Amino acid sequence: MSSDTITRKPVVLIVDDDITTVKFIAEAIRDQYDVIFTLSAEDCLQKAMADQKPDLILLDVKMPSVDGFQICEALKKSEETQNIPVIFITSAKHQEDQEKGFEMGAIDYITKPINVKILRARLKAHVRQSIDLKNLEELALTDVLTGVPNRRKFNEAMRSDWKLAVRDKKPISLLMIDIDEFKRFNDHYGHPEGDKCLIAVAKTLKQTVDRPIDMVARIGGEEFVILLPDTDLTGAEFIAKKVRQSIHALNFPHSESKVCDFVTLSIGVSCMKPTLQEDPEMLIDAADKALYRAKHDGKDCYRVVTF
Ligand code: GH3
Ligand code: MG
Ligand code: MG
Repeated sequence: MSSDTITRKPVVLIVDDDITTVKFIAEAIRDQYDVIFTLSAEDCLQKAMADQKPDLILLDVKMPSVDGFQICEALKKSEETQNIPVIFITSAKHQEDQEKGFEMGAIDYITKPINVKILRARLKAHVRQSIDLKNLEELALTDVLTGVPNRRKFNEAMRSDWKLAVRDKKPISLLMIDIDEFKRFNDHYGHPEGDKCLIAVAKTLKQTVDRPIDMVARIGGEEFVILLPDTDLTGAEFIAKKVRQSIHALNFPHSESKVCDFVTLSIGVSCMKPTLQEDPEMLIDAADKALYRAKHDGKDCYRVVTF
């Protein structure tokens, strides 16, 4: 779980063409929230996708150019923004606005003239729920034992990084990693020690990659992957060598291994400059084949399969 979600103030985005309303709401909630705002409906989507993503959006229904319903619909269509709760600001006179708001995916509404107590109470409930949900989602994507992303998270990242690679015509590389002779390790040292070894391997892998977009994930018992967006084969081989060196330096004892007397890894490397015709499975299959070759060739090494 990122410390970010725990320590920072939740961010509320106010979208209203009326500066007086914006100021009124901001004043009423700024002790509890970081407030950002826009007076133009067009800016809302951009602000919702910015680095500092809002935890909740307060959206005015009646704005001059586009109405709030259209904005809400667009927010709910985009994968990046669909989980941000939207509360409509409607006029008490127009009940039909409230119904339509819910249809468009809003989570609640508040009516003008705004009652500060009601506003604060509704925000509190919805923001807490939204943050709880985000934390749960993050937990579901994390491997409990090692703390690195799990297979589900890897699949998600693979899909989105793949799309970006196709769009930007950039290479993408994958390292498929398997601990050598791990069954013997467990049989000799016991399962708890095996778990300690997995934790140490995950930590070492994480320390070996240094770009923030690189991802180390545990996808099975003693199987890890490293996903390297925007990385060509030279770069991927460089990381494979570095991984092998770091694991040697870790020097985790393994007296039963037929390879050597410490824990080693076999690594399959694949790289691709994907187009729309291919899909991510090809990269995964190639890395799998390469890993099989590394095992076949005596383990503690990396092998490459490209296209
Ligand atoms: P190879 O060198 O060919 O990879 O052989 P191996 O023994 O590493 O591979 P194999 O697939 O035969 O065995 C994997 C072993 O990994 C089986 C099990 O003892 C161990 N293992 C799998 N998941 C876990 C886990 O979560 N914790 C622990 N401690 N051990 C695990
Ligand atoms: Mg295995
Ligand atoms: Mg193994």
